[in-house]
Amino acid sequence: MNSFSQHVLTWFDAHGRHDLPWQLNPTPYRVWVSEIMLQQTQVATVIPYYQRFMDSFPTVQALAHADEDAVLQHWAGLGYYARARNLHYAAKQVLAMDGVFPQTLEGLIALKGVGCSTAGAILALGWQQRGVIMDGNVKRVLSRHFAIGGDSSSAAVQQQLWALAEQLTPHTQVAAYTQAMMDLGATLCTRSKPLCLYCPVQKACQAFALGTPSAFPQKKAAKELPTRRAYFLIIKNEQQELLWLKRPPTGIWGGLWCLPQIEAQDLQQLSDILQQDWGIKEPKIQSMTPFRHTFSHYHLQVQPVQMRGQVGLIKEQLSQWKTPQAALQSLGLPQPITKILEMLG
Ligand code: SF4
Repeated sequence: MNSFSQHVLTWFDAHGRHDLPWQLNPTPYRVWVSEIMLQQTQVATVIPYYQRFMDSFPTVQALAHADEDAVLQHWAGLGYYARARNLHYAAKQVLAMDGVFPQTLEGLIALKGVGCSTAGAILALGWQQRGVIMDGNVKRVLSRHFAIGGDSSSAAVQQQLWALAEQLTPHTQVAAYTQAMMDLGATLCTRSKPLCLYCPVQKACQAFALGTPSAFPQKKAAKELPTRRAYFLIIKNEQQELLWLKRPPTGIWGGLWCLPQIEAQDLQQLSDILQQDWGIKEPKIQSMTPFRHTFSHYHLQVQPVQMRGQVGLIKEQLSQWKTPQAALQSLGLPQPITKILEMLG
């Protein structure tokens, strides 16, 4: 075993995290769900979502047989909903293999939404086999340790990092090493202000020697995000239910249920659209406080409006009426929509 992994493993024994929910009974299914949840989300945020998800879908069979709305409802608030849709789809793929997860890298990456790093984690943590991971934590530790410059998302840098990870990952104690690298990145080699003084591999760390750990990994200069504006319609019927539309399966908030969303420059244009496209005569619109929601590629200026007026048939989109409480309990709603419901009180 190389000295890097030896130091990391010794540190992990004493200081690593050993009681995360997915570390208890780490089956391939439980590891897979945790890895997908952790892809864009911090551990502390993931834990309650993970526990709720496992309570409702304790096995891959339960997940495969679940209704998509129920799966998305369990994901509501975590963002990047394609992860949940892919998870649901891949559970059906595993079910078609008699409910047994593949035990090879090739077999695992054939599952929808599973890339090389997630597959490596399932192999190492779920199957106790050798698997190599490259999540954000590992990328940060290795970029710093070897002072790897250049745009970290470029193919050349990625290749270099994977080669190093492959070389450093031991052939024994792979599960412990995998978790150790995640923990090292999450607790010591953090994005800002890394705690190098406590780091088990500090002596050989090139970024530490240079005195510039935070300069790695290097990112492309961030572009300023454009801002878009959309109106979200709160339309109530006599039973105090709101109108909900299901989003198309792909794209932002794909498959979730949403208040009707209309992109318009101002209230006049909104009113015109409602009259022309929705057949609503003289809609009475009342604006609520707007707020901003940020996606990876743009800011969305969310403008909730309450509206009265007879709504005709909604074409080409699934729709239903539900009270805010019932919607919160049974539908997958995007986080800004939950916020609008909170504003309604
Ligand atoms: Fe990260 Fe500092 Fe350890 Fe280097 S010494 S790996 S920068 S925590």
